[in-house]
Amino acid sequence: MEVNLISDTVTKPSKGMLRAMLQASVGDDVFKEDPSVNILEQEVLDLFGMEAALFFPSGTMANQTAIKLHTQPGDQLICDHYAHVYNYEGGGVSFNSGVSCRLIQGDQGRISASQVESVINPPDFYHSPKTSLVCLENTTNKGGGAVYDFNEIKAIRKICDKNDLALHLDGARLWNALEVTPEDTKDYGRIFDTISLCLSKGLGCPVGSVLVGSKKHIHAAVRIRKILGGGMRQAGYLAAAGSFALRYQREDLNDDHRKARELEDVLKKSNYVNKVEPVSTNIIIFSLKVDKDEMIFIGKLKEKNILLISLGKGKLRMVTHRDYSQEQHNYVLTTLIKMNDYV
Ligand SMILES: *Cc1c(COP(=O)(O)O)cnc(C)c1O
Repeated sequence: MEVNLISDTVTKPSKGMLRAMLQASVGDDVFKEDPSVNILEQEVLDLFGMEAALFFPSGTMANQTAIKLHTQPGDQLICDHYAHVYNYEGGGVSFNSGVSCRLIQGDQGRISASQVESVINPPDFYHSPKTSLVCLENTTNKGGGAVYDFNEIKAIRKICDKNDLALHLDGARLWNALEVTPEDTKDYGRIFDTISLCLSKGLGCPVGSVLVGSKKHIHAAVRIRKILGGGMRQAGYLAAAGSFALRYQREDLNDDHRKARELEDVLKKSNYVNKVEPVSTNIIIFSLKVDKDEMIFIGKLKEKNILLISLGKGKLRMVTHRDYSQEQHNYVLTTLIKMNDYV
């Protein structure tokens, strides 16, 4: 038995999902003639109460497209220093859009309205880049699955309106946030100009993301997606997986969250652990006591067939997901407790 806690992207499609994929009716989506893609896009735009939606092969491409929509070369976007768009999209912000990032040291990847306000460049001061976009991430990835307080998002929206800035949400794991907060999808749809959503994280699809926004933005996004090479043909086989996940697999995220809390509890009580970042959803980030070597720790768990990763700077990460069974979970909890004796 190998237990993979490296990411929630390691899942394989469930039997029901595979069946839905096989039964999908498909067409050429580049000509907008794939019924399954059209259905998924309609479902997601309805869910968020937004005008339009577009299916993408990856969350990275959906974010990169959104950034391109909201900026001109030379502009600057504002994000947390942990942001995925800054750290993990291969420098696409500058490669694709020619923009720079103004980084904010937030709290577990979350930034505040006052922090945003304090880093907006004066619009008439042509020596500095023009600030045109704010990118938030909910839940935060590198920040350990932290969830925004919706009031803070509202306050950020106000600052954006006052300063004529667009507001994009990297909602790769927004599904996780929605399970643990009172707000619903329409609340998010009302606030953001664009939202990117991953289907291939906690929801368990093999591939796929969706960008939602206004008709005008999504119309422009079709061209940008094509330029980036993201126009796919019979993509309905993949979109059908997305529709299935949205219908039948969203609630399962709560199980991932419970398991993550239980891992947090055990780690907090372990003598080899220095600190566990507060766990809100399915990501657990922790550090070891100074005299413990993290690579040796990872190696010891690997010998026990438990896989996790280092985020560097002494931080370790585990992510729970739908293929992490209760049996595996019991085994991991027991193993972590046993590690007290021999780490
Ligand atoms: C996974 C992820 C993405 C998109 O990643 P892809 O691997 O390109 O699908 C974007 N933002 C965040 C926060 C993520 O965790």
